[in-house]
Amino acid sequence: MGTSIPQGSFVQHIVWGSLELHHYLDALAVVRATAPDQPAILNRPHAAARAARFFVEKFPGRTLYAVKANPSPNLIRLLWDAGVTHYDVASIGETRLVRRLLPEATLCFMHPVKAPAAIVEAYRDHGVRTFSLDSIEELDKIRAATTEANGGVEPTDLILCVRLRVSSEFSELSLASKFGCDLADARDLLQAARQLADSLGICFHVGSQAMTPFAYVTALEKVRAAIVDAAVTVDIIDVGGGFPSIYPGMEPPPLEDFFALIDRTYESLPVSYSAELWCEPGRALSAEYNSIIVRVERRRGNELYINDGAYGALFDAAHVGWRFPVQVLRSAPTAAETAAFSFYGPTCDDMDHMAGPFELPADIAAGDYIEIGMLGAYGAAMKTAFNGFEANEVYQVADEPMASLYRGVHRDPRVSDNVVSLR
Ligand SMILES: *Cc1c(COP(=O)(O)O)cnc(C)c1O
Repeated sequence: MGTSIPQGSFVQHIVWGSLELHHYLDALAVVRATAPDQPAILNRPHAAARAARFFVEKFPGRTLYAVKANPSPNLIRLLWDAGVTHYDVASIGETRLVRRLLPEATLCFMHPVKAPAAIVEAYRDHGVRTFSLDSIEELDKIRAATTEANGGVEPTDLILCVRLRVSSEFSELSLASKFGCDLADARDLLQAARQLADSLGICFHVGSQAMTPFAYVTALEKVRAAIVDAAVTVDIIDVGGGFPSIYPGMEPPPLEDFFALIDRTYESLPVSYSAELWCEPGRALSAEYNSIIVRVERRRGNELYINDGAYGALFDAAHVGWRFPVQVLRSAPTAAETAAFSFYGPTCDDMDHMAGPFELPADIAAGDYIEIGMLGAYGAAMKTAFNGFEANEVYQVADEPMASLYRGVHRDPRVSDNVVSLR
């Protein structure tokens, strides 16, 4: 049997990390063996390790894992084992978590608005030297907090990354309005940060699930303008996250195309001869790590009431209409005919609704199990305990994720448009 564990906090994720998970071939084997009453999370370590090795080997610079996409300790450890040495943390909770798991990892605190006490603890207790910022106020805060953490002496070992606001027009999820310094203000901020920093970087985020490499080219041209205008020496260019995964209706070009265009544009920037190129993928490293098994508890027309939803692993399916790949889990083959379904989650809230459409066998009924794929990024990590629907089981499976950006070959291409076709 699997292990029932409440979800929704780092502490509980740490509990996960210490568990010996039961191994199965695939989702159907889990259903046959356990007929789970609660949603089951499936881990695919081989898929996450493959993604990590891909970035480590092919990205033309350094890869930082953006921990918020999925802070599962098992995942963080396996990324380390696959060669990812740097981690983008955004809170003191993430900082403590990764430091506890990986004493030798380099942690970069890349949230541009931090609590002073978080900066002090990160610098003093966890060896964090890299901080991002997008305002003079944050620069002053970092100066004061790290001076305090350094025993009253202003530190000389800071790596400061100025976050530039760039367009999210090429991405599915915008990150353009909350953070980032406008180009017009970048000169003053870069010059002021240069005074305090041992190494100065410029970072940005093009938005999540960027569907074309030109998102990065456009952003890097803005970086070029900022460097020229400020006339400062820049040591790090950090192109952030946004690298896509693959979902029904969202098939991005190969990641090699992203890397090639980023490399070419970066090489033409006026940066110091020893400058470094960084990236901070979250989604691209974690999406293939998890799927979930849900059970249909009721059918009403073409609406299926399932036991996970908007307050569970399906936040993006509910709130941004994301269509995840689905397949029914039955021992006997199903009649080929399919129909379009929407999902309701288990809570009593009307907003716990996933419009889909999700293509499933037309005869699907209460008691059927469904696997929902590609939930490793911002899926498993988002579960809450709302309405008492917090428990789930966790298993390890050995089969391939429903789609992959890292597999050169096709597997079992299905007719349904639930499943993305692979090059
Ligand atoms: C969320 C985030 C990331 C990861 O973004 P993905 O789109 O998941 O790759 C990277 N850097 C920062 C600063 C972030 O906030």
